[in-house]
Amino acid sequence: MGELIHPQKTIEILKKYNFHFQKKFGQNFLIDAHVMDKIISSAAITKDAFILEIGPGIGTMTQFLCENAGFVAAVEIDHNLIPVLDETLGAYDNVMVINDDILKVDIGRLAEEKNGGKPIKVVANLPYYITTPIIMGLFESHVPLESVTVMVQKEVAQRMKAEPGTKDYGALSLAVQYYAKPEIIANVPPNCFMPRPKVGSAVICLKCHKHPPVQVKKEKLLFDFIRASFNQRRKTLVNGLSHFPGISLSKEQIQEQIQMLGLPATVRGESLTLAQFAALSDAIYHSMDAKG
Ligand code: SAM
Repeated sequence: MGELIHPQKTIEILKKYNFHFQKKFGQNFLIDAHVMDKIISSAAITKDAFILEIGPGIGTMTQFLCENAGFVAAVEIDHNLIPVLDETLGAYDNVMVINDDILKVDIGRLAEEKNGGKPIKVVANLPYYITTPIIMGLFESHVPLESVTVMVQKEVAQRMKAEPGTKDYGALSLAVQYYAKPEIIANVPPNCFMPRPKVGSAVICLKCHKHPPVQVKKEKLLFDFIRASFNQRRKTLVNGLSHFPGISLSKEQIQEQIQMLGLPATVRGESLTLAQFAALSDAIYHSMDAKG
């Protein structure tokens, strides 16, 4: 098992099914055993684990997952790959292939029905055109998650992991770090895929927090807030926030709240930690509440 990872075997199966890669689905199949080992080992898959694989392709990684996990649900959008998966996964009775768009699948219900609502692990070589909606969709839907181990575009992995004050730091860093602890496992060059993508890739493991590292009165306000602060990167925080329709405070009142937290009036969003964003979001929430 596992021979699909060899380029020759991948070519053979693609020819057999007369398969043509579809750019619109972000199809770049993994053909490097070393990288595959890294994904599987960093995901720490055990015999009792329930795995959700997004975009199994021809089933290269799915075979490894079936060998090592309790159950695998693999969601693939491209119906041309379903007969291929029927063959490559035919030997396993612990896999379910769902031919659908991952953004339309009710993962919470799947986890409830197939795993009794216990936390699941997500493992995937993601289609890059929808990386952020997939990851944020998983987190925001509050599906019980243990970890998310995924191949993404290298720059996206760097943004997820970025610290305050760095050029990569932004709304994605804060959102991901609210839900999980990111660790970049490996950088992966284009020649590890067929066909080769135009961009570099990285494997990132997001270990999900049991409870968020900061507590806020209103989660939605925190995220609206973060987005508003990074919408216009070159603006000061007070300018970014005073143009945000969700805040019914004047520029002066926002400035006062910023200074009350010990931050300079000219501070920019990119230098605030998650804890500072949380404190500011709560302070503004209270202040709006007091105003009525
Ligand atoms: N896992 C395979 C591998 O590593 O060789 C394929 C990875 S390829 C980068 C991404 C896969 O996701 C493709 O099989 C593609 O058809 C599938 N895909 C693209 N968009 C999808 C979506 N919205 N929902 C489910 N699968 C999708």
